[in-house]
Amino acid sequence: MKKIKRIIRDVPQHWVGDGFPVRSLFSYGGGNEFDPFLLLDYAGPHEFSPSNSKRGVEVHPHKGFETVTILYRGELAHRDSSGGSGSLGPGDVQWMTAGNGIVHEEYHSEEFTRRGGTLEMVQLWVNLRSADKSTPPKYQDLRDNQFPRVKIDDGAGTARVIAGQFGDAHGAAATFSPINVWDMQLKAGKRANLKVPAGHTTVLIAQSGSVSVNESPMKAVELALFDRDGNSISIESETDSRVLVLTGEPLGEPVVGQGPFVMNSREEIYNAMEDLQAGKMGRLK
Ligand code: MN
Repeated sequence: MKKIKRIIRDVPQHWVGDGFPVRSLFSYGGGNEFDPFLLLDYAGPHEFSPSNSKRGVEVHPHKGFETVTILYRGELAHRDSSGGSGSLGPGDVQWMTAGNGIVHEEYHSEEFTRRGGTLEMVQLWVNLRSADKSTPPKYQDLRDNQFPRVKIDDGAGTARVIAGQFGDAHGAAATFSPINVWDMQLKAGKRANLKVPAGHTTVLIAQSGSVSVNESPMKAVELALFDRDGNSISIESETDSRVLVLTGEPLGEPVVGQGPFVMNSREEIYNAMEDLQAGKMGRLK
């Protein structure tokens, strides 16, 4: 069994742009204990009133890692300098590899802005190995129906496999390093015993309902970080609940970040800033 190292609770909310009221459950400033994950922002659930003015985050760069947006409720629209654009609805995932540099904007869709409604989403930042930081930017625009659903033993619920492997099912997202992302719906009164890879950084986010994780009570929105040793976790669901489980093989490389750039050295950060200023990360058309 993987022991819980700590549980992160009562994280204050702040706004990213005017569209995303987030709780940063962790970020890369605090050492390497979440390696290969860099940051996790949990947005909402937040009720937006109908409006005619665009809400979101204006154009900004990223370099050296991937941003993964998992949308639960609401609708988003995005555009980037590689020419990609699109929208995401509930259940959809945008897995964006910033690689050697991209600029993009992230907004609520026009329709969602006009209609108003509840927004709930996760934005996860996944680090890239030094050798992959110079990969060309790309998008994986993944629809809810592309993700396999696997029944958990003993009728404990269902796992939606976003990335990695759960049982025999493979997630739709391609990753650069070994990562699992499992979106889980759990039934009241049941226990799920999950096999997770030994050596992986493992986190669980309680998203709704109340659960007991390795006998520690958790509710929404809280995060448990586990020891890397051990190969299982146990989740007892007191009510119907949702949890997100992430595991990843640590990259074990130096992490030097500044805002939207995460590299291996200070010099690479300066180069990223120069590339941005020289227009090498492209521009929005
Ligand atoms: Mn962004």
